[in-house]
Amino acid sequence: MNYEEMDKTYVLQTYGRNYVNFKHGLNATLFDDLGHDYIDFTAGIGVVSVGHGNQRLADAISEQAHNIIHTSNLYLIEPQAKLAKKINDLVGFEVGVFFGNSGAEANEGAIKLARKYGEKKFANKKYKVLTLEHSFHGRTITTVKATGQDSFHKSAFAPYPEGFSYTKAIADLYAAIDDETVAVMLELVQGEGGVKAFAKEEIQALAKFLKEKEILLIIDEVQSGVFRSGEFLATSLYDIEPDIITLAKGLAGGVPIGAVITKHKDIFEAGDHGSTFGGNFLATRAGLEVLDILDSYKQSGMLDEALIYFDQKLKALSVSFPSLFESVEGLGLMRGIRCVNAETLANVIKKAFENGVLVLKAGKNTLRFLPPLTISQEEIDEGFKRLEGACKTLC
Ligand SMILES: *Cc1c(COP(=O)(O)O)cnc(C)c1O
Repeated sequence: MNYEEMDKTYVLQTYGRNYVNFKHGLNATLFDDLGHDYIDFTAGIGVVSVGHGNQRLADAISEQAHNIIHTSNLYLIEPQAKLAKKINDLVGFEVGVFFGNSGAEANEGAIKLARKYGEKKFANKKYKVLTLEHSFHGRTITTVKATGQDSFHKSAFAPYPEGFSYTKAIADLYAAIDDETVAVMLELVQGEGGVKAFAKEEIQALAKFLKEKEILLIIDEVQSGVFRSGEFLATSLYDIEPDIITLAKGLAGGVPIGAVITKHKDIFEAGDHGSTFGGNFLATRAGLEVLDILDSYKQSGMLDEALIYFDQKLKALSVSFPSLFESVEGLGLMRGIRCVNAETLANVIKKAFENGVLVLKAGKNTLRFLPPLTISQEEIDEGFKRLEGACKTLC
């Protein structure tokens, strides 16, 4: 039995998988078992923020694994305390942090926090959470319901929890708010929905309105956070101070982690929320190293250089193939190219793979790029060269 057969026999087939067998990686380059190399413009869907085979991260994880991997949240966890402080320092206003293991779990925690706020704060409990169409907030029963895409709300998984609804645009949120609305949750740049960045003025006006009404603003930065936007949080680019921010993907460079970050530090009490694995020694030590690496990378100016360079290459590719591409989207190293249609997108992704470059799909027709933040100019050059070759075969 080969590995593909083994996978198909024993792993539940919930993914449409490509059966390439990657053996090792170096920064933004992956190598398979047949000796082929691939430029990785996906970073494991925005997770491998400091690149593959990162020496500093590997050493930190290894050293931590030799000492303690896990003790439980019943005892002090030094790297957890340090990571929470580091996040607080990077956020720029005072926050507390709860650690979980994934993006969905972080959003789930954010929703619990919002509902408790809604009970504590108001005489008549508020509990409804509004989200947006084309959003993506996770795959648990609650976060899938919070996800504003009907295709995710399969009848097979019903019934879903109450108290979630979504609107088409930010402008429609105002009318949808009622006496029971406790929070609005959104991504500043919709990732899975098609790499759509919202306008700053629109977000700022909403934040101001919600603050006046004492309704919480939850920003899902599971994908846009941890320097992917060019700043630690995309929230800083929009110059807002949300009540709750969630992080996950890039935070520990591939070790599972999620974080609920909030300025409402007095809502959760002991026993209100928890996680067996959340914030353990291994994950938070990895998170600390990742933030140290990326913080100095940003300070040195190298992150800004990378995203400017990537932007130039992306725009050049998009205008070179008007029969395939319509526009360039996104910000930082969270980018997209809108394709003329879904079929073109599928063809580009397939040809790109054959040409040794990994790219992603978002929404119906967006070619998505989430490279490691540490990607080198040489890797960017090589990736776009391969992508251009792939596009030429489609014209
Ligand atoms: C990936 C993603 C999630 C879900 O994260 P998981 O770790 O897969 O649970 C939630 N929100 C956004 C914006 C995401 O990009």
